[in-house]
Amino acid sequence: MHVVIVGAGIGGLALALMLKARGIRCQIYEVAPKIRELGVGINVLPHAIAELAELGLLARLDEVAVRTRELIYANRFGQEIWREPRGVEAGYQVPQFSIHRGHLQGVLRDAVVERLGRGAVRCGHSFRAFKQEEGAVKVRFVGASGSRITVAGDVLIGCDGIHSAVRRQLYPHESGLRWNGVLMWRGATHAKGFLDGRTMIVGGGFNNKLVLYPIARGKGGRQLINWVVTYRMGDGSTPPPRREDWNRRGVLEEVLPHVARFSTPHVDLVKLVRGAPAFYEYPMADKDPLPRWTHGRVTLLGDAAHPMYPVGSNGASQAILDARCLADQLVAAEHGRAALAAYEAQRLPMTAEIVRNNRQGGPEGVIDEVERRAPDGFDDIDDVLSHAKREAIVKGYAQLAGFAKEQVNRTQPAASRKAQRQAGGARTSRKPR
Ligand SMILES: Cc1cc2nc3c(=O)[nH]c(=O)nc-3n(C[C@H](O)[C@H](O)[C@H](O)COP(=O)(O)OP(=O)(O)OC[C@H]3O[C@@H](n4cnc5c(N)ncnc54)[C@H](O)[C@@H]3O)c2cc1C
Repeated sequence: MHVVIVGAGIGGLALALMLKARGIRCQIYEVAPKIRELGVGINVLPHAIAELAELGLLARLDEVAVRTRELIYANRFGQEIWREPRGVEAGYQVPQFSIHRGHLQGVLRDAVVERLGRGAVRCGHSFRAFKQEEGAVKVRFVGASGSRITVAGDVLIGCDGIHSAVRRQLYPHESGLRWNGVLMWRGATHAKGFLDGRTMIVGGGFNNKLVLYPIARGKGGRQLINWVVTYRMGDGSTPPPRREDWNRRGVLEEVLPHVARFSTPHVDLVKLVRGAPAFYEYPMADKDPLPRWTHGRVTLLGDAAHPMYPVGSNGASQAILDARCLADQLVAAEHGRAALAAYEAQRLPMTAEIVRNNRQGGPEGVIDEVERRAPDGFDDIDDVLSHAKREAIVKGYAQLAGFAKEQVNRTQPAASRKAQRQAGGARTSRKPR
């Protein structure tokens, strides 16, 4: 079995490590000339961390990330709506990590190079097209110098992100990304830590939101603090002002008026935003769930399959879970095509549900509901929305996305044991999920 992977992002790299652990050959082709550690902060939830722990990566993640201890939801005045422990402190056997996306990608890339060899990722190769033939799929790439290469594999996995070209070949008439009218600005600033240095704060609902969490230790006791500010510019009926590009720089004068709407006792927000060496603008966009990802020997994974709004911390997490499921199916199935179909049957319905739920705000919908009922703030949160109703929104999402404590801990003993063994790609003994 030879697997051709397009894209060395979070999903593609995780998949390569999981295939290696199961003795399956693969090769990644990545359009970027080299893997640079790009992006800002993301959260990776315990169900996905369990998979990375099973790959023996927990200690490396601990070196570059922060174990999230607590999550606070508040309205835009800083009044608390919900607070809960996260990760190990919430009783999970593995942590939740707040991490710079680039550092996560770096940990995965280094492990791929160590375990599969330097040649495992061929950078500077842009996917162009595939052709399915009897017994193989032929995949065409264009190299940085304009050279063309064609490779053959048993299966092709499109892990090429939100603008997936593999998806475009499968669905040439699909309409583009759907923007919901919300613009996001994302940055990371070295600053004095807040609260216990491991807390994530989400303040304000969909229309105007602030997200704050530390993602790394900084110099002199400071921390690298990730921040996101969102603002609804319209109803999404027009295209976004600029195309979705994870690396597009934001403009200070455009974001500062939106920052000024928030207050939090813990952080000087304006100073934090002004202190970022660079920050990025991104329209909140997704795509309608597809009816199928798998077409013969070709399938999609991660954002290529199910781009979703970045609420509820599921973008990277679900890509890692896709990789686990696909690797299990590939090692178990008689034929690659059957493996791809079985993978889709397991993963598509669940991720489609998350895409739809995220459109309503995901777990952060609890903030929207409270702000709708009490737009000017409240004296007692229980008079606005009962604890049971708030809990139903937040915990219901965890269940839906598969990271409720009982769901994760149920599958945990094997991962926890393997987490102790930090070196080498562990061969799994778990049954396919
Ligand atoms: C540069 C960058 C910065 C990001 N920053 C953030 C962030 O700050 N916050 C956040 O929540 N999410 C961010 N994301 C998205 C986040 O990584 C994903 O939502 C999530 O991790 C799912 O991962 P994925 O592997 O499906 O996609 P991605 O991690 O996006 O990886 C896709 C990979 O495919 C490659 N690729 C694309 N087209 C081709 C092609 N034609 N041929 C070959 N390779 C191709 C891309 O270069 C990329 O390496 C970023 C993505 C990128 C690419």
